[in-house]
Amino acid sequence: MTTTNVSTDAGFTKQQQSYLQGFVMGADVARAVRGLPVLSGSAHGNGNGNGRGATIQIGPSPATEPSPAGPESIHFEAQNRFLAAGKKLCPEEQAKRVKNPLDMWDEIRANAVQEKYPKGTDVLLYKFHGLFYVAPAQNAFMCRLRIPGGAFKSQQLRSVADLAQAYGGGYTDVTTRANLQIREIAAKDAIHVLTGLQECGIVSRGSGADNIRNVTASPTSGFDRQELIETLPLAKEMHHYILNHREMYGLPRKFNIAFDGGGTISALEDTNDIGFTAVEVTNEKATGDLPAGIYFQLCLGGITGHKDFARPTGVLLKPEQCVPVAAAIVRVFIAHGDRTDRHKARLKYVLDDWGFEKFLTETEKEYAKSLPRSPLDLCSQRPPVDRQAHVDFHLQKQSGVHYVGVVLPVGRLSFDQMHALADIADRFGRGELRLTVWQNLLIPHIAENDVDDVKHALEAIGLDWQATSVRAGLVACTGNTGCKFSAANTKGQAMILARYLEARITLDQPVNIHLTGCPHSCAQHYIGDIGLLATKVEVGEDMVEGYHIHVGGGYGDDREIGREIFPSVGFDDVPPLVERILQVYLERRASPEESFASFTRRQDIAQLKEMVEQLEPIV
Ligand code: SF4
Repeated sequence: MTTTNVSTDAGFTKQQQSYLQGFVMGADVARAVRGLPVLSGSAHGNGNGNGRGATIQIGPSPATEPSPAGPESIHFEAQNRFLAAGKKLCPEEQAKRVKNPLDMWDEIRANAVQEKYPKGTDVLLYKFHGLFYVAPAQNAFMCRLRIPGGAFKSQQLRSVADLAQAYGGGYTDVTTRANLQIREIAAKDAIHVLTGLQECGIVSRGSGADNIRNVTASPTSGFDRQELIETLPLAKEMHHYILNHREMYGLPRKFNIAFDGGGTISALEDTNDIGFTAVEVTNEKATGDLPAGIYFQLCLGGITGHKDFARPTGVLLKPEQCVPVAAAIVRVFIAHGDRTDRHKARLKYVLDDWGFEKFLTETEKEYAKSLPRSPLDLCSQRPPVDRQAHVDFHLQKQSGVHYVGVVLPVGRLSFDQMHALADIADRFGRGELRLTVWQNLLIPHIAENDVDDVKHALEAIGLDWQATSVRAGLVACTGNTGCKFSAANTKGQAMILARYLEARITLDQPVNIHLTGCPHSCAQHYIGDIGLLATKVEVGEDMVEGYHIHVGGGYGDDREIGREIFPSVGFDDVPPLVERILQVYLERRASPEESFASFTRRQDIAQLKEMVEQLEPIV
């Protein structure tokens, strides 16, 4: 056995040591993959002199090793605490420790030249650049962009359309984070998409993996008639903060931030890890410590896939405090989020473990100031949302102009439609477009006289501005045509379901139907009036695509996690069963004003199920 001791005594600087540790760890991973003994010390399993190959001991063991210089050192220090406690980092944390994903440009480029897709944990690391290798669903990359607040310019939409046409499938999908995805990108073209996006002023860095995802805001920010404050500037400020702080990447797990300004369309901020909700303190309720004005209520811990909403912390912030406080919260999460178990690595679990007060105390240390707590009853209620305000024409706060909410069935846009929408925004608006979390798109600043022309222009490209209650609230995740996690073709089946229901039932109240392909819950099935979670269902000797059906979910003032009513229903039976559920609602609701959510929530779930099953056959 050969042991080489390289330590500070050997004259290496701290930085050189750090580099060598990184080198040895990288070599260890490569050797481990090939089944060879590792080189480094005990934390990597071979510092015990058992004769299984050479050992290079560099300073202290990796469990207590100094972190590399630079802002990302806080991640290493967090990992070191788990190692020092004798715990094992999960494979994703080990991969991030060995290779900083932000420094992979040359590797991504070289792989593109060789037409190679990533393998193993590199699939995760590529997502730091917005590149998702989605095999086996598609042997291709999906590229997810970052569009803060969902706001972009017509020229950017044309550029994204051209990239999708040249290097992808010729279409984009609007996501539930008011964002766009390009699909079907070949290995050789990944680099062209990344450079093309950057050239048109769009970045994709951090849109996937363990990062802060696209920062959302109220989609009508700046032109909403009832908003308390514009939130788009805050979403952009947060976005640029993230882009310019390396330590904001590589969190224990993904992280969501949203700003709601009290407008007609909800930003769904209570489904985010950090939700900022605008509230007003009026003159009547103002105090010496809390002058009248607009504040943001800080809410934490939303993750509806784990059946939790962001809850108010009692902290009220001035608008200019939001971004620095969010950064402090992220730093606390970096330091204390779980690095050993991916299922427990979300902010919710730190909050569950500590409680809000301890978490806020730690945040105050990072923020270096106290966070002002104020009784919630000093704030007036948020103005109500209009569940149909994301479709159709609506007056803006600027006189004589409208925005139009364009209906995009399950969020898909073709190359031609993207170009045509950009042209409409230029010709009839100010060249601005907004995406919403409802997977559709708004074009603002349309003059009264131009409304009919815009309608004709939308019809000409096969799009609509009106939607039935079913279609307006239809949300579907990617599904198994593009995501390997999905148990069903959510987008395709959402359209079949919508067509079936539209032909057979008329709803006079909004009813949101959310279809999600797996428990990751990208389409947030637990907050839909009707939520469908895909699963495989045994039918005879076959396993077919199907869904667990939930009812009664909601968000905002009406927030509630939906309850399962029918588990494991094969998709062929889903449309007639959903129709029966809706029929029971229409027949038995207390009044025409009663919402679907209110009706289903006041029923015992077993009794509701019985009502649906006993309904006379619908012909
Ligand atoms: Fe994929 Fe699951 Fe997200 Fe659907 S919910 S897009 S199946 S990860």
